[in-house]
Amino acid sequence: MKICNACGKPRQGGIWIGTAMLCFCCAGDYLLRDVPEDLMAATNHKALDEGVSARELVLKALHTYLA
Ligand SMILES: [Zn+2]
Repeated sequence: MKICNACGKPRQGGIWIGTAMLCFCCAGDYLLRDVPEDLMAATNHKALDEGVSARELVLKALHTYLA
C-alpha cells in the first residue's frame, strides 16, 4: 500500500516533492504553507473584492503568471 510521507495515510495518487511522495491534501498544504501574513491578508481581501475564494484567486494568479 502506498503511504503519504507527510500524513502517513494511505493515498491514491499524489505528487512527488523532492524525494517525498505526498497525497494531494498534504501537497496542497506543502505548496501553500508559510505564506507571509500580509500576503495572505492581501490575497483574502482581493478574493473578497472579486467575490471568489482565496484558493480560486491564487489559482487564477498562477494561471495568469504561467500563461
Ligand atoms: Zn498526506
